[in-house]
Amino acid sequence: MPFTIALGALFSMFLWGGKSEPSKSRVIGIQPFEGIPEAHVDETKAALERYYHYTVRVLPERKLPEGAFTNVKSPRYRADKLLRFLEEILPDDCDHLLGLTASDISTTKYEDFETKRIKEPAWKYEDWGIFGLGQMPGRACVVSTFRLKGGVDEAKLRERLRKVACHEIGHNLGLPHCAKSEKCFMRDGAEKIATVDAESEVLCEHCAATIGVAVR
Ligand SMILES: [Zn+2]
Ligand SMILES: [Zn+2]
Repeated sequence: MPFTIALGALFSMFLWGGKSEPSKSRVIGIQPFEGIPEAHVDETKAALERYYHYTVRVLPERKLPEGAFTNVKSPRYRADKLLRFLEEILPDDCDHLLGLTASDISTTKYEDFETKRIKEPAWKYEDWGIFGLGQMPGRACVVSTFRLKGGVDEAKLRERLRKVACHEIGHNLGLPHCAKSEKCFMRDGAEKIATVDAESEVLCEHCAATIGVAVR
């Protein structure tokens, strides 16, 4: 299946592959990467179960793949490479696999996704730190807590984590960024954590109807 990749909570240009199938029973795997606290894995699992009502299975912890490491601006892991890695290790009994890391992750931000023209200034956007990245639609997504931590308490960090995890799984289910509602968690993060903080923890009616999830 050809995958279009939607870039995390911070990127708004991608191809829309059409409506996904209405909600059916699915299994989401969580792949914890070394260094992520168990409490954050549990928080993510509970949020996905509560919101999507899918079965969520936590896999044994792994090290981040060395091949995804980069040091263009600072030591980070390339999110697109992590998605390929997650696809490779996706267990047969999981429909989606969400990688969860405390390390910084990055991607290249394009002005035009088709021609791969990097957004200007290119030095800034060639290796751009993000909260998460998810295939749209697709089977793999990755979430990093690295950029969710700044200056907030644990409760706020966990709220951000729940929103970003639900956002990236939303991309996997075929949802593009939402322009219908300021409160919808599928809104484009637009490079700011403030956007995530302004979101609610539910989809707007339009997005919910698109993937057949009841608005709760
Ligand atoms: Zn997004
Ligand atoms: Zn929406």
